[in-house]
Amino acid sequence: MPLYDYQCEECRTVFEVRATIHEKETGLQPECPACHSEKTHQLLNAIFMLHSKGGSGFQGSCEPGSGCCG
Ligand SMILES: [Zn+2]
Repeated sequence: MPLYDYQCEECRTVFEVRATIHEKETGLQPECPACHSEKTHQLLNAIFMLHSKGGSGFQGSCEPGSGCCG
């Protein structure tokens, strides 16, 4: 049975839910284990990848030899 990551929109708690494909297809809406809110949404792996990159990798848009930076 696959695991899904969910986040509560009330208290931002992230939790894992174990559900069958059938349960997913029928509109799974798990309850937050911390505050028991049903305002939860599924987290996708791509979101975790974006967050893990951090913000220190910024580089200017000038290319060497283009002349814009002298
Ligand atoms: Zn919650």
